[in-house]
Amino acid sequence: MNRQCPALKRDGDRCSGSVPEGKYHCWFHAPENSGKRRRAAVRGGRGNKSKVSKDLHKLLEDLTGRVVAGDLEPYPASVAGQLIGVRLRLLEYERRIKEQDELVGRLEALEEQITAEKNSEGRRSSWGA
Ligand SMILES: [Zn+2]
Repeated sequence: MNRQCPALKRDGDRCSGSVPEGKYHCWFHAPENSGKRRRAAVRGGRGNKSKVSKDLHKLLEDLTGRVVAGDLEPYPASVAGQLIGVRLRLLEYERRIKEQDELVGRLEALEEQITAEKNSEGRRSSWGA
């Protein structure tokens, strides 16, 4: 009975991951886990964030320039500044949520891998007894 994962590692060696009971691949190579692996690999949409931050810089520059030039009253400008502050807090909130999602995905992956390893250890020791 072949309990070794048939997948190949990046260096070309056979994967040494333990294969859960009734499965063909280890957790990391099981096709049914690809969604969870992807979720675990999410890195919080950094490219998108830097674009938003660039937009906010542009908006701030524009507002500052208009206030200095006298095109914009100080009061609307200060409201705009407050709204930008709110948007920054919202961005920070979204970043935290994404980070949490990433951590939960990685935790789930670890838990499943630990469970799979425990199961295979239990099988080995019962064979030895
Ligand atoms: Zn594997």
